Amino acid sequence: MTSTPPPGSARAHPWHDFDGMRIATAADGTRLIAARCSCGDVIDVAEAVFAPCVDCGGLDCARCGGSGEIVDHRALAWREATTDELELL
Ligand SMILES: [Zn+2]
Ligand SMILES: [Zn+2]
Repeated sequence: MTSTPPPGSARAHPWHDFDGMRIATAADGTRLIAARCSCGDVIDVAEAVFAPCVDCGGLDCARCGGSGEIVDHRALAWREATTDELELL
């Protein structure tokens, strides 16, 4: 996805590097975005909000990787992951 830290409260531990984000789909179909620290901890999660990829380049698109949608970072509400979510992520 991206290696730049998202805005808001999602951050790595101050003594570690930010390790990017990953998207997981919960059993009920909810998609979650997890912000991870380089030590492997999930720091924060947000329910995924997607926006259409503008100026999409298709399967080789550098913005969306061909999915046609990109994470709408401004719409994300970061919060602490629950225990169930941590198992999922
Ligand atoms: Zn860490
Ligand atoms: Zn695209």
